[in-house]
Amino acid sequence: MADVAGATRAAGAAGRAATAVPVLEVSDLSASYGPVRALDGVSLTAEAGRVTAVLGANGAGKTTLLRTISGLVRSTGGRVTLDGTDITRAPVEAMVQKGMAHVPEGRGVIAELTVDENLRVGSLFRGRVGTEEFDRVYDLFPRIAERRDNPAHTLSGGERQMLVIGRALLARPKILLLDEPSLGLAPRIVAQIFGLVRRLVDEEGLSVLLVEQNARSALSVADVGVVLNLGRVVVTDEAARLAADEDLRHAYLGF
Ligand code: ATP
Repeated sequence: MADVAGATRAAGAAGRAATAVPVLEVSDLSASYGPVRALDGVSLTAEAGRVTAVLGANGAGKTTLLRTISGLVRSTGGRVTLDGTDITRAPVEAMVQKGMAHVPEGRGVIAELTVDENLRVGSLFRGRVGTEEFDRVYDLFPRIAERRDNPAHTLSGGERQMLVIGRALLARPKILLLDEPSLGLAPRIVAQIFGLVRRLVDEEGLSVLLVEQNARSALSVADVGVVLNLGRVVVTDEAARLAADEDLRHAYLGF
């Protein structure tokens, strides 16, 4: 897969190293589905202006981690703070207001509504959204702008992914939780989407917590990687170092 974002990432990372500011801090987080312990004491930090990738095989707990951070799954222990404020089990509206946006896997849109209507309906859950925020999303995603009057069911997978990311950006979040955006997309489209995510991070200081099974692509856009296995953190390191660790890649990352 093309390392579209890699060069930018390398340049950006050097400048950021001295000024790392934690935005989202997860400490010792646990969650269960009945008897299944899906998260077992997970700790990680997502820093401002960085892409933090959470990687691991099927069932490692990646989706559960994002869902527990954003309150869709109730934690059984641990703490989540956003900009220093404890948001563990806070209502979703409070999290949105504090600057968190979650893009779940599956690219959920309302198929019968147009692209523009989907953005407008999405904005209803995101507080006051001005016209300029819609313009900004259309500027970021010209392909979506071209298709704004088309029903969402006519969009390709990549376009749908852009639409759901655009919808999440309407509230100008500080941190974006992105769940498996590459799933089922052609490498060229994945590179395009990751390139855009990288741009938002480098140019606007957005923070991204990216969950991916496609570890190779994710590490090409990420600054830091967190590898999960069976609900626990195996290792946290600079993305480039994880990508260079052949044993780790073979054991946990599938490439
Ligand atoms: P994938 O990439 O397949 O989505 P993942 O790393 O995101 O995997 P999770 O979906 O978070 O992993 O699953 C973690 C564990 O929790 C797995 O053992 C899974 O079977 C279990 N699990 C996930 N969702 C549920 C659920 N709704 N009910 C019961 N068990 C669940």
